[in-house]
Amino acid sequence: MTSSPIPWVDLRPGEDRAAVDAAIRRVLDRGWYVLGPEVDAFETEFAQATSSGQTIAVASSTDALTLILRALGIGPGDEVITTALSAVYTAQAVMMAGARPVFADIDPERLTLDPTAVATLVGPRTAAVMPVHLYGQPADVTALRTLTQLHGLALIEDCCQAHLATCDGVPIGMTGEAAAYSFYPTKNLGALGDGGAVCTGNAELAAWIRRLRNGGQTERNHHTEPASHSRLDELQAAVLRARLPHLRDWTTRRRALAGRYRAGLVGSVVSVPPELDAGHVYHLFPIRTAARDALRAHLRAQDIDTLVHFPVPMPAQPAFASVSPQPCPLADAVCGELVSLPLYPGLDDRAVDRVLAAVADWPGPDRD
Ligand SMILES: *Cc1c(COP(=O)(O)O)cnc(C)c1O
Repeated sequence: MTSSPIPWVDLRPGEDRAAVDAAIRRVLDRGWYVLGPEVDAFETEFAQATSSGQTIAVASSTDALTLILRALGIGPGDEVITTALSAVYTAQAVMMAGARPVFADIDPERLTLDPTAVATLVGPRTAAVMPVHLYGQPADVTALRTLTQLHGLALIEDCCQAHLATCDGVPIGMTGEAAAYSFYPTKNLGALGDGGAVCTGNAELAAWIRRLRNGGQTERNHHTEPASHSRLDELQAAVLRARLPHLRDWTTRRRALAGRYRAGLVGSVVSVPPELDAGHVYHLFPIRTAARDALRAHLRAQDIDTLVHFPVPMPAQPAFASVSPQPCPLADAVCGELVSLPLYPGLDDRAVDRVLAAVADWPGPDRD
């Protein structure tokens, strides 16, 4: 029997192909490449899609988080409590702002920042709490907001894996001071390169971030503060505008694929993290097994590609060696067991069934 390989992700345009081609041509024909009409329009459209007050498009989400911290006045001497399980960029942004990340352990079911663990780490230097809506599942922002309000802290949401997700029916990114999104190609809404955005309901914060992304400029040739450049270019904005109208359908498709995986994995030797909120948007579909490497090899032998998100808990990254003594045993344990199955809107049901069959004929952690 021959069957085609199942990649972990496929980033070639599909039903959006004609719109993406037209968007690129439109920018070339106009000859305007930085901070122009495409970025303006994308900012309006993305703010609408995410129900946020304002969107400021920037070069990456790492920059978005860094600029939010800077505009909130958070820097040297301040601590930001964040999750031990995320893409490393969440905490890199804290470092780039000059502040110190403090890692809290995760909720063992939700795999996102545990509000109880956060509560034990709040101290005199704590300035903000930064949850991540990991894998598309919303973090418990309701509990985290209660905590940040009690202590007068900022709440900054990392929404990079969770475009259009909701938490208890409320769109993510609206509970705290500001939220950061990434449009890195693999994200639920991806560009043809790097891109990111800040979403916030705070007009003053938005205006400051607009200056910070553009050389500290308030008007042409008038620069009020030191700043770098961090801008989404017109070409990427146009591509994102072509894709944004598909995002709701793509999200529905992700949820359907995840549902098929879930149904097929009932009673399996692998364990599947529960869906704790119907607003989960399934950026990834991680499963857990104590013999992760053996399962990956078994799937690879059947031409099924997987990835690990994430193999190393953030406190163990050398980048944070100077700042991260906190033990996070739950994140440590989970990092050794996670494996992300193929999941993207263009994946078909037959491919999911092949992955399920391959997992079903894996003997399991004890006998492989
Ligand atoms: C991708 C990602 C980032 C970084 O986004 P960039 O746009 O590549 O800077 C940060 N946090 C999380 C949770 C991510 O998944």
